[in-house]
Amino acid sequence: MESGTVETKVGADGSNGAAGAETLEVLNPATGEVIAKLPVDSPEAVAETVARVRAAQPDWEAMGIEGRYHWLGKLRDWILDDVEEISDTVQAETGKVRGDIAAELFYVTDLINFYGTNAAKFIGDEAVRPHSPLIASKKLTIRYRPHPVVGVISPWNFPLAMGLGDSIPALQAGAAVVVKPSEFTPLSLMQIIGAWKKEIGAPDVFDYVLGAGDAGSTLVDHVDCVQFTGSDRTGRKVMARAAETLTPVSLELGGKDPMIVLADADIDRAANAAAWGGMANSGQLCISVERIYVEEPVYDEFVAKLTKRVSSLRQGADGRKPEKDVGAMTSPNQSAIVEDHVNDAIANGARALTGGKKAEGKGDYFEPTVLVDVDHSMKVMRDETFGPVVGVMKVRDSEEAVRLANDSRYGLAASIFGEKDRAEKLARRIEAGSVNVNDVVTNMLAMGVPMGGWKQSGIGYRHGDYGIKKYCRPESIVVTRFGGKNEPAWYPYTKGRRGLVNRVATAFNARDWRRRLGLRG
Ligand code: NAD
Repeated sequence: MESGTVETKVGADGSNGAAGAETLEVLNPATGEVIAKLPVDSPEAVAETVARVRAAQPDWEAMGIEGRYHWLGKLRDWILDDVEEISDTVQAETGKVRGDIAAELFYVTDLINFYGTNAAKFIGDEAVRPHSPLIASKKLTIRYRPHPVVGVISPWNFPLAMGLGDSIPALQAGAAVVVKPSEFTPLSLMQIIGAWKKEIGAPDVFDYVLGAGDAGSTLVDHVDCVQFTGSDRTGRKVMARAAETLTPVSLELGGKDPMIVLADADIDRAANAAAWGGMANSGQLCISVERIYVEEPVYDEFVAKLTKRVSSLRQGADGRKPEKDVGAMTSPNQSAIVEDHVNDAIANGARALTGGKKAEGKGDYFEPTVLVDVDHSMKVMRDETFGPVVGVMKVRDSEEAVRLANDSRYGLAASIFGEKDRAEKLARRIEAGSVNVNDVVTNMLAMGVPMGGWKQSGIGYRHGDYGIKKYCRPESIVVTRFGGKNEPAWYPYTKGRRGLVNRVATAFNARDWRRRLGLRG
């Protein structure tokens, strides 16, 4: 596929089978050009799509873990064989540089293998020993049965890592999945699901619907479980909507991730990490470094090294060859938010040591920016900026750094640079779902451990057993291995039988010998 052009899955109009009244225009943020016009799915079309995959789900579940991994493995291979073409689509609709796309494709293929090879351990049948002699004769098993249809609602910053990434464990668990990609970046996912259906010929349990918030809330009404990734503002609406049908939700929301630099840190590593952790994907990363607290003795050195690295970054439209470091702002609204945060900080006394404004010329770019003389009264240190901007504050000591790091309504991830034992001790006091010591963002790739937000950064977790169990409902099977015609607890209730039940309960539940023997304590 040529860069900038798009193939869709079904029908020449790219629709999902039912024409909608409205149209989505997809832009290339690097050029401002319209690259696709797609019809929005009507509420009826959303319901039809869910009903169709629901009908195919029982066979998918019956296929078992290995059978499902067979198909997901085919998807992995298709992605690996078509990396350049898929990258072209991601690049066209997001304005990312090639280097940022590579991480996305690595993540989804790794995720397919991780859940394909670990699903049996995470959601295979569990035999449980009876906890009490009263039920010793029972065979106890926990089964993890999928929610039949999972609705995945995804943002625009990583159209594949989020939209596809959240679908992979759900499919591996045996659920059917309908994704509502962001209205700004639907094309990459359409390409992947198109291949799932046509080129791979996999079962009809994976589809998408197109549209903005309305399509998302209609999807919530029809599915059995919702995985939402996006802003906390929308997360609240999704949770309220799902409450109407008592549909379980998992919410992966925004962050305002702090980084702490201790006096005994390797300052070169810390500065390079801050530059990459703050600017990668143009800062449009939920776990990007947004605010930095540096112990006084190393503050000047750190700021000088960070500013040098950030001001050397090459920004602009990238081709297939990775020649740029920082790409465009993907959503049309985002650069206005970033600009507002930076202007608010500067109006209140902050200084931009590099960057500080929208870049001139074609496309939607914000200059990589380092702000100093910031404090927690400013939006840039309080609200999610989600752009290529970091604010750096000098702190007296590690106590002040921890206090400021925890002074946030968000709690997604954090990082600490310093002597590793000291840094790890501080990590245990940070209020966030993940803390990286002497690294940034890397928790995203550590699939064995959970990743999720505390406080207003979310509810629920990705990765590890959490990341697949959330798509399942535990079912307890209690099998009576042997038993007579009647049980003492059943009818008829007689004094003798009641007395026996009470005596047995006392004998087993009392924790002292007097009571076990029927005496008072
Ligand atoms: P958003 O909340 O604006 O939109 C997310 C999705 O929700 C989109 O598909 C949108 O169309 C849909 N939507 C909007 N209104 C809806 C409604 N009422 N009901 C159902 N769906 C609705 O977020 P965004 O701007 O696309 O993404 C950026 C945000 O995502 C940032 O806050 C970022 O931190 C967050 N994010 C979090 C993670 C994480 O893992 N925690 C990962 C990536 C992005």
